Amino acid sequence: MLHGSTELVAIVGSPITQVKSPENFNRWFQANRQDLAMLPIDIREDALDAFIETLRGWQNLRGVVVTVPYKQVLAGRLDEVSERAAALGTVNVIRRQADGRLLGDNVDGEGFLNAACLNGFQARGKRALVIGAGGVGSAIAWSLCQAGVASLVLADASAARCESLAGLLGKAFAEVPIEIGYESLESFDLLVNATPAGMGGTGELPLPTALLEGLRASTLVADVVTSPEITPLLAAARERGCAVQTGAQMAFAQLGNLGHFMGVTPLQL
Ligand code: NAD
Repeated sequence: MLHGSTELVAIVGSPITQVKSPENFNRWFQANRQDLAMLPIDIREDALDAFIETLRGWQNLRGVVVTVPYKQVLAGRLDEVSERAAALGTVNVIRRQADGRLLGDNVDGEGFLNAACLNGFQARGKRALVIGAGGVGSAIAWSLCQAGVASLVLADASAARCESLAGLLGKAFAEVPIEIGYESLESFDLLVNATPAGMGGTGELPLPTALLEGLRASTLVADVVTSPEITPLLAAARERGCAVQTGAQMAFAQLGNLGHFMGVTPLQL
């Protein structure tokens, strides 16, 4: 129930009907008797400037979760962003300060690490492969480096994206050996699909099928795709005896990070 006293958070994107954050946050607010609510906002790109100005003056709004396609465009319009959001050039959450200043961060990678931790995986000292050097792949790669992986291999259909991500990670984490491209899966403790391959029941894998022969049962295989929950990659990994991590697990595991940054939940829900 909304009251005159209810403070708000929002999730902004376009389209917005597919997002699960409003039901997840509102369930948590209700269960914890918080006078808070999350609104879904679908906004046109040509209205973003006015939206940002409105956020600055919106006194009962604590923060905004940012989703596709505005993670990049909004990163450049805030008053301050975290070091990782600045390096990645993307935000997925905004906090509105009491004085109207807007601060941004990107916690996609933290959500990934939280989910991995719940699956019994600690990144420190591990060898990781991240396929997909776009928005979410970059955030995951950043957090893996920050968590102290022994080595990181990047792959993407776009060589330019891989090189640019390897360049920015190399500057921020000089101690982590970073390579581009792979010929076998044998040496990896963690394999991440951070591409949309397999989304919407296409049956597509993000890598050549033949390479799955080299996948070891001890490798954690993670996918960012949320629908279907068990992607073709995760199904193939399960067949080979691997533990798997779904995109839904990653999304759920970052609710606390999003809520904490906006100042409305603890870090761990
Ligand atoms: P993006 O467009 O920024 O990046 C995708 C990258 O994948 C691109 O660099 C592209 O070149 C590469 N790519 C596409 N197909 C490929 C293939 N077959 N092989 C190699 N590279 C390929 O997109 P994004 O914002 O990073 O989102 C990627 C996916 O992650 C989407 O499906 C999105 O829904 C999902 N996502 C999930 C979560 C979550 O919490 N689970 C969070 C954010 C995004």
